[in-house]
Amino acid sequence: MTASPQPVEPFDLVIFGGTGDLAVRKLLPALYHRYADGQIPDTSRVIGIAREMLDDDGYRAHARKALLENGGDKSKVDDFLKLLHYRSLDARKDEGWDAFAALMSEQPGHVRVFYLSTSPDLFVDICNRLGEHGLNQGKARVVLEKPIGRDLASANQINDDVGRVFDESQTYRIDHYLGKETVQNLLALRFGNVLFEPLWNAEHIDHVQITVAETLGVGQRVAYYDHAGALRDMVQNHILQLLCMVAMEPPSSLSPDAVRDEKLKVLRSLKPIDESNAAQLTVRGQYRAGAAEGQSVAGYLDELKDHKSHTESFVALKAEIANWRWAGVPFYLRTGKRLPERVSEIVVVFKPVPHSIFDASAGPLAQNRLVLRLQPDENIKLWVTIKHPGPGGLRLRHVSLDMSFAEAFGVQQPDAYERLILDVVRGNPTLFMRRDEVEAAWRWADPILAAWAESGEAPRPYTAGTWGPSAAVALIERDGRTWNEDSD
Ligand code: NAP
Repeated sequence: MTASPQPVEPFDLVIFGGTGDLAVRKLLPALYHRYADGQIPDTSRVIGIAREMLDDDGYRAHARKALLENGGDKSKVDDFLKLLHYRSLDARKDEGWDAFAALMSEQPGHVRVFYLSTSPDLFVDICNRLGEHGLNQGKARVVLEKPIGRDLASANQINDDVGRVFDESQTYRIDHYLGKETVQNLLALRFGNVLFEPLWNAEHIDHVQITVAETLGVGQRVAYYDHAGALRDMVQNHILQLLCMVAMEPPSSLSPDAVRDEKLKVLRSLKPIDESNAAQLTVRGQYRAGAAEGQSVAGYLDELKDHKSHTESFVALKAEIANWRWAGVPFYLRTGKRLPERVSEIVVVFKPVPHSIFDASAGPLAQNRLVLRLQPDENIKLWVTIKHPGPGGLRLRHVSLDMSFAEAFGVQQPDAYERLILDVVRGNPTLFMRRDEVEAAWRWADPILAAWAESGEAPRPYTAGTWGPSAAVALIERDGRTWNEDSD
């Protein structure tokens, strides 16, 4: 039997940007689901903040529509809405802050979570105002959404500015990939079994692939995206965090700093990619008109309405970790928009067996693979070789041992935000990025960006609905390997 989730202590969660896409599509539904599961006490409050002139009822109506569209249960949604409040204020202006501080003072004992779901250029103004009103005291925490900067210098600026008001121990830099069930399971699999860890090294692992593929184009986010590109938007944060979870040494415990210390060591061990080797180790792409899910779609430059942009909507690269465990094991990373499938996965490919005892008639011997799928569905599959059942000689088959969690345990998969928001309330920063991790990731990414800028070359074109430029296939195939193609 599954144990019921433990309720957290009562809290006030303030969402700056409470009417925005992230708040409405992810944060409010996450809070609703935890409420419906009995984890959020009725005395908690969720306070939306934005400039739009709304009152509590207006905000509740807005939230109600979104939650019901999201499959919420009518009566539970109505109960949850009682927790919701709204205050209209402009983060850059003086008005409204005193009234907001007065609202906060009604529950002095509550944990206070300030979730900054706004553009990062508002982070400093918001934190300064919170500090001026003493709202950074006691059990106060601040959650920062990505992007934390666009390079090391700007990330340092944001961290310094926020750090003048909130201590590092109060600062939660969210990377929702770390809240995914599969990522938690990677820890369970590696450190809760004796089967994997002895093989988890250069002696037995041939290479690792991490793919984060989207079918969508840039759409409404084009202005932000053109300033960022795939490396900043996906690789510097999400993909490197996944790489750390695969590659880190066993931490001494699951305490926040024990885990984050090990991740930091991985980031610091990444071999530099700069102008001396970027052309060999990286491939940039930009989509042209093509098809997505059976529909014709425009190219990146047409969506941008600017035909000069060199921003990459696709990147593939070959990373290496310079330490004893991983020496010589490539980590092939790729991400892009307008690819044929929406899929995020980590594929750990083991070395071939050292010697085959089977005849050619048994069929080829495939390498073992551990495939950790994060999107669209979460599951883990271990590909092993078995004998084809029945008479007819010893014929080999490569089959997957399926560990699909939802089916196995009869539970619905929680969204990553559900876990992460409650971790903030509980004061557990294990799954959040520490400042030095963000800095180490930028230290590795900055020289790649500089090398691309220096080369002045445009990204390679690829047709929307394909797996990126052909050079991305060549990047892995020239090493005698192929991108994982098993989509079952
Ligand atoms: P969005 O839809 O543009 O929402 C921005 C929110 O901020 C709105 O509620 C807006 O409302 C409010 N706002 C803007 N200026 C303000 C001001 N001066 N004072 C107070 N409130 C202000 O953005 P989003 O997509 O929700 O993204 C929010 C943040 O999360 C961004 O940093 C984004 O990069 C990050 N993020 C988003 C996603 C996602 O899936 N959407 C995923 C990962 C990270 P008013 O205009 O009424 O003030």
